[in-house]
Amino acid sequence: MKNKQFLPWIILFLTLLGSIPIILHNKGYTSARIIGVLVVVSAIAALWFWRVNTRKKSPRKERVRLSVNDKHWLKEKISFYKRLKKSDQIIFEDRVGIFLADVIITEIGKEQTEKTTALYVASSAVIAFWGLPYFNYGNLREVLVYPSNFDMDNTLNKHGVVNGKVHHGGLMNNTMILSLPALVKGFQIDNDKKNVGIHEFAHLLDKSNGSIDGVPEYLGEEDKKIWTQLMKDAMDKINNDDSTIPAYGGTSEAEFFAVVTTYYKECPHLLKVKHRPLFEFLEAYFNDEKNKQ
Ligand SMILES: [Zn+2]
Repeated sequence: MKNKQFLPWIILFLTLLGSIPIILHNKGYTSARIIGVLVVVSAIAALWFWRVNTRKKSPRKERVRLSVNDKHWLKEKISFYKRLKKSDQIIFEDRVGIFLADVIITEIGKEQTEKTTALYVASSAVIAFWGLPYFNYGNLREVLVYPSNFDMDNTLNKHGVVNGKVHHGGLMNNTMILSLPALVKGFQIDNDKKNVGIHEFAHLLDKSNGSIDGVPEYLGEEDKKIWTQLMKDAMDKINNDDSTIPAYGGTSEAEFFAVVTTYYKECPHLLKVKHRPLFEFLEAYFNDEKNKQ
């Protein structure tokens, strides 16, 4: 609540309080008592007013409650979730529930989106943003899940080269497209540093500061410089065939961020051994206490 809203109350208090000694001085004991009561009543009224307003301004976020089956499914299919300690698994479930309440997931070719499809999409989002306080996923409104890969113009094509896509600007600005077989495969093979769901949500994390340029939200000026240099060196190595980071990461800064974030989320131990400075930077980025404020 803004301080300005308190001003009438403060003026009322001070006027009433200020009048008591004056009235007492003039021997108006009864009036002083009445004013004393008024001070108490208006204090209670002010508190009530404050509570009602505060509640209105911070409504509890809607979420879908996960069933026992859903939680069992997460344990079976999402190894990131399985690796978490119990208290973090509860946070994970809660964030999946918020995502499902906030974002429309449309499975193309199905009358209704399969629950498992929705859980794969939501898990990708939660994993990519894990460790950060930021939950609007780049203003994402809808995820379209296609039954196969697609072409650059978003038309379905089994042999299409695209399996995931986020848009920046235009009519599809708040839409993501994912190919279902690719999305599922990303979780089935959990040690190849690749996962299209996490990859696309990493792009949204990058987009959160207004541009998809490989420099994500939440970096201070100094960290931006450090990250830009780390990125340049690592991309040179990829392009000289001297890196364990998938080659696609060498195509642009934006792809580098998405590729290396997926690597970090899926195989953190390998990244730590093979690319220590990148690992340490990402570890600090995704676990920074100041991000949680
Ligand atoms: Zn990409």
